[in-house]
Amino acid sequence: MGEQHKINKPPHVLLFPFPAQGHINPLSQFGKRLLSKGVETTLVTTIYILNSTLSHNNNTSIEIEAISDGFDEGGFASADSPESYLKTFKEVGSKSLVDIIHKLQSEGKTIDAIIYDSFIPWALDVAMEFGIDGATFFTQACAVNSIYYHVHKGLISLPPDSTVSVPGLPQLERWETPSFVHKCGTYPGWSEMVFNQFANIDEARWVFASTFYQLEEQVIEWMRKMWKLKVIGPTLPSMYLDKRLEDDKEYGFSLFKANYNECMNWLKDKPKESVVYVSFGSFAQLGPEQMEEIVWGLRDSQVNFLWVVRAEEQEKLPKNFMDKKGLVVAWCRQLDVLAHESIGCFVTHCGLNSALEAISLGVPVVGMPQWTDQTTNAKLLDDVWGVGVRIKADENGIVRRGNLASCIKKIMEEERGVLARRNVKKWRELAKVAVDEGGSSDKDIDDFVCELEHYA
Ligand code: UDP
Repeated sequence: MGEQHKINKPPHVLLFPFPAQGHINPLSQFGKRLLSKGVETTLVTTIYILNSTLSHNNNTSIEIEAISDGFDEGGFASADSPESYLKTFKEVGSKSLVDIIHKLQSEGKTIDAIIYDSFIPWALDVAMEFGIDGATFFTQACAVNSIYYHVHKGLISLPPDSTVSVPGLPQLERWETPSFVHKCGTYPGWSEMVFNQFANIDEARWVFASTFYQLEEQVIEWMRKMWKLKVIGPTLPSMYLDKRLEDDKEYGFSLFKANYNECMNWLKDKPKESVVYVSFGSFAQLGPEQMEEIVWGLRDSQVNFLWVVRAEEQEKLPKNFMDKKGLVVAWCRQLDVLAHESIGCFVTHCGLNSALEAISLGVPVVGMPQWTDQTTNAKLLDDVWGVGVRIKADENGIVRRGNLASCIKKIMEEERGVLARRNVKKWRELAKVAVDEGGSSDKDIDDFVCELEHYA
C-alpha cells in the first residue's frame, strides 16, 4: 500500500486539539506547516468550538470536521465540573470520532495518522481500532511533560519533598512545579488528565512538542531516549518568524472577538517600549482581590498599560474602573500587540503559547503564573531562559501591588530589563532559525512527512 499511496495521493492526517484556544492554536499552525509540505490535513474540533469560532483558516486548505463532546450548546463552561466534562468528552467524543473516520473513509479519504493532543489519549485507542498510526502532540513545555512523566511513574511523590529534580532541569523548589503537583488534590479531573498523558504514549508512533530544540535541549535529549520525539515549534504564524508561508499572519481560529482597531489606535502614538501589556490568557480566572491589586500595581507603576480582561472577568474590576494611562479590552490580537514597537514588557500568566510568543517577538516578561504548568514556565522564563522576572504570590496566593510594581520597574527601567531584553532577542533569533528552512523544527517536520510518505 505504501508505494501505491506514494504515487497516487498525498498523505492525509487528522489533527485533534483539546478544545481550547491555547491548544487549537499550536495544532492548527502545525497543520499549516504540514500543508505547505504537501500533507493534507483535517482539523477535528467540537461542534461547540466550531460554532463559536469567529474566523477560520480561509487562507489555507485545512479541512475542518466537528465531533460532539456532549456539550454542543455550551461547551466546557456548561459542564457541571471539569471531571464531568472530561468524562463525557471521552465517552461521546470517542464515538463521534469513530463516526467522522467512517465518514471520511466513505468519501474515499485515507487517513495516514491521527495527531491528537496529549490531553486526549483516548484518541489513540480510536486510531488503533482502525489500524491508523497515532501521534501524541504536547502543547506544554517538555520540562513540564517531564515532571508529569516522573509523577506518572511514581518517581516524584505527591506532594513532593521540598525540592524536585528531573534530568536536564535545575532543581525546582516545590512551588515551582506545576500546581497539579505542588497543590495536589486541587482540580482532580485536570490532574488526572495531565498525569494520564503517558498512559498509552508508548503505543504512539510519534511524539510531537510545540517548543523548539535549542530552548529545551537537555530535556528533549532525555525524552528522545524514550520516544520518537519531534520538536516542531514555535508554532506562531510564519509571518512573525521565517515568513515562508505567505499570508500566514494569524492563527485563524479565534474564540473571542478582538478589539483590533481600538488597540492599534491606542498603541500608535505611544513611545517605543513604553507600554506594559497585561494578559492572563483564555482560561485563567482571577479573584476580585487579585484584580484590585493589579489595578493598583499598574497605577503605582505610572506606566502606560494595555490590559486584556475577558468579558466574563470584567465584573471583577473595581466599579467605573478607568485610568488615563491604561486601556482595558476584552480580547486583542496578541501577536500584533506583542509585535508593536511601543510594547516594553508583557505581564503574563505564562501559558506556553504566550511564553513562546513573547520569546519569538522579543518582548521581555513579568511572569505572574496562576496555576497548572504556568508556575514552571515562569521559572523557565526567569531563571533558565533569562527573559524576565516572575512575581511570587503571598501566602494566600495573591500577588500584591508593590511586588507587581517593583517587577514592572525592574524590566522597564533597571539593568535586569536590559539583560532580559538582550536574552530575549537572542532566543528570538534562535526561534526563527529553528522554523526556517533546514532549522531543527523544519527538519523534524520534514522527517515526519518523509516517514508518512514512505511507510503510510
Ligand atoms: N490571545 C490572544 N488575545 C488575547 C489573549 C490571548 O490572541 O487577548 C492568544 C495568545 O496569543 C495565545 C493564546 O491566546 O496564543 C493563549 O494561550 P496560552 O497558552 O498563552 O494560555 P491559555 O489561554 O491556554 O491559558
